[in-house]
Amino acid sequence: MADIKIHVFHTGEVCVAPDLPFGGDNCNAVKASGVFGKKEDRLWLPVSAYLIEHPKGKFLVDTGWARDVSPNGEFDKKAQIKSLGSVLLYEVNQGRIGLGQCIDEQLLEMGIKDSDIDAVLITHLDCDHANGLKQVKNAKKFMVSADEVKFANKITNKVRYYKGWWEGIDLTEFEWNDNQGPVGKSYDLLGDGSIELINIPGHADGLYAVKVKNEEGKFVLLFSDGGYARKSWEEQITSGIAADKQLQKQSLAWIKEQSLDENCVESLANHDPDIAPHIIEL
Ligand SMILES: [Zn+2]
Repeated sequence: MADIKIHVFHTGEVCVAPDLPFGGDNCNAVKASGVFGKKEDRLWLPVSAYLIEHPKGKFLVDTGWARDVSPNGEFDKKAQIKSLGSVLLYEVNQGRIGLGQCIDEQLLEMGIKDSDIDAVLITHLDCDHANGLKQVKNAKKFMVSADEVKFANKITNKVRYYKGWWEGIDLTEFEWNDNQGPVGKSYDLLGDGSIELINIPGHADGLYAVKVKNEEGKFVLLFSDGGYARKSWEEQITSGIAADKQLQKQSLAWIKEQSLDENCVESLANHDPDIAPHIIEL
């Protein structure tokens, strides 16, 4: 029997301009934002969250959308603008989440309450990852890298990161305590190397991938927004909006190397349209 189980959930969808995920090296942020682009060209991508059932506890990776984005389970412009904190962020990305699809709603279906979660691992603080924190507010711990909090507090990131998403949530900010990954910064969550939070900067300064490894060395890599799909690392396609494209390239090269490793069981981007919800046994 497998010791570790990873549940891959879809917690609604996000709508973006095609250049935002796959704009490449020569794309600028204004074009990628899609603010002046055609609405009909936009893509609806899944928003994923993951539950790691591990012998040492239950760990949730990201939270997807909150119910207040779609109070009735449908696209709701007014509700979204309120939840996202600004019209501008709504223009860049819209969201929707059907009834029963919020992370807490799906966990309850499995008999798991938010208070059963030992830690919520927040890969970074963008809306489609942190907006749903309020759905699991009774989890025991919320882990975000200190680098990401510093990045989110920059005055230039005021629209991108709305503090209302984590209002009333006691975020545990951690400093890197290990040296894995493209920039040699990681955090060994349990002290045994089985869950490593690995800094993959570029999309955001404090972004981390979650590498889950079993005793035989087989591993699953959840690389969040280090790339938007499998083709991102296969073809080294940078996104249209990046905090640092050079670092993003460095991170994508590392994701490729990991994904091609013979011990890699699965390597998953958060918003890959080709990935369906499923369960991985490790
Ligand atoms: Zn995202």
